[in-house]
Amino acid sequence: MPKVEFKLPETFESFGEARKSGFLKMKALKEKGAGVVGVFCVYTPLEVFLAAGLVPVSLCSTSDETIPEAEKTLPRNLCPLIKASYGFAVADKCPYMYFSDLVVGETTCDGKKKMYELLGQIKDVHVLNLPQTQSGQRSLPFLISELKALKDKVETAFGVTIAEADLTRAIKEKNAEKRLIKEFYELSQMDPPPMTGLQQLQVLFGSQFKFDLPEKLADLRQTIDDLKEARAKGERPVAKGAKRLVMTGCPTGGATEKVIKAIEESGAVIVAYENCTGARQYDREVREDGDPWEALAEYYLGVGCSVMTPNPNRLELLGRLCREFKADGVVEMVLQACHTYAIETQTIRSFLSDKGLPFLTLETDYSAGDVGQLKTRAAAFIETLG
Ligand code: SF4
Ligand code: SF4
Repeated sequence: MPKVEFKLPETFESFGEARKSGFLKMKALKEKGAGVVGVFCVYTPLEVFLAAGLVPVSLCSTSDETIPEAEKTLPRNLCPLIKASYGFAVADKCPYMYFSDLVVGETTCDGKKKMYELLGQIKDVHVLNLPQTQSGQRSLPFLISELKALKDKVETAFGVTIAEADLTRAIKEKNAEKRLIKEFYELSQMDPPPMTGLQQLQVLFGSQFKFDLPEKLADLRQTIDDLKEARAKGERPVAKGAKRLVMTGCPTGGATEKVIKAIEESGAVIVAYENCTGARQYDREVREDGDPWEALAEYYLGVGCSVMTPNPNRLELLGRLCREFKADGVVEMVLQACHTYAIETQTIRSFLSDKGLPFLTLETDYSAGDVGQLKTRAAAFIETLG
């Protein structure tokens, strides 16, 4: 992408720094007696922990720093996200893992399920069992019962009681956050977008490490207002005519920023993230009326991850994002040895081909070894977009 002079709103920096500075904030929270729950996945219902007055935190899993440590126990030919998650725990290098009183895993892919068994030898791990399908009559009641089993675990582990009114309040708080994050990333529907894909990711990723909700909401509002103001003043961080791409696939952030850099340095811009770092997590809200456990189960059952079979919700969201963000094409990132996403690539390819949308899939890991190859493939794809 051609270099354009652009002064980032200061609040952007606060999101970029959030993960690092969050360590100290987390330490301070622990010193005040806060209970902390470490999580890995978008299927984990954070509302349950918020209802109990606990602090949920995403555990480190996006760098290759501890993969050699993990490979002493885990097979090398395993998804880097799983190896990194385990590696940070055994090497004691993730402060968030260190501060977690409870870790909640989930039965998504086989690699993670089996890794949680090993993790359970060093931390208190509760595994949330998920159905394998969103369709049929049995999945919803099954997930409701699993959410209630999680509630029982949390109540016992922390000596708290989760009343339905607390859960409804937590659902409303999380919905408010989702609405604001969605309002933020939907700014990139503008042509050209008011931020690069890397800048958008910085806020999406960093917002997970802001633990004070009112402060987080205020920072998000400020960021949205700053971007609109910069736009009105004529700031254009993205060149007019840059090809607009939607990103899909495995979770992005940390080491995999290299994929976004390869794309944006080749002249295109990521306008939306369908994956878990973005819209898959923030596009929908939990219903605020009726039984809150049922509402939570309905919401989480609807997450369009490839571990579900079939997985129509991913297609629905991806198609909608392509329309709303006027995409010129779609890039998928698949982490090495992630079988569910790698196989679902065929479904995505034919779905996009029917819509006449060009598609590129890139397989990668957390190392820097393939940066040159990623750049070559991204540049060749962008050239075909005209
Ligand atoms: S891609 Fe699927 S398994 Fe991975 S974090 Fe997202 S919902 Fe969880
Ligand atoms: S990226 Fe794929 S293999 Fe890795 S943890 Fe997520 S679903 Fe499992």
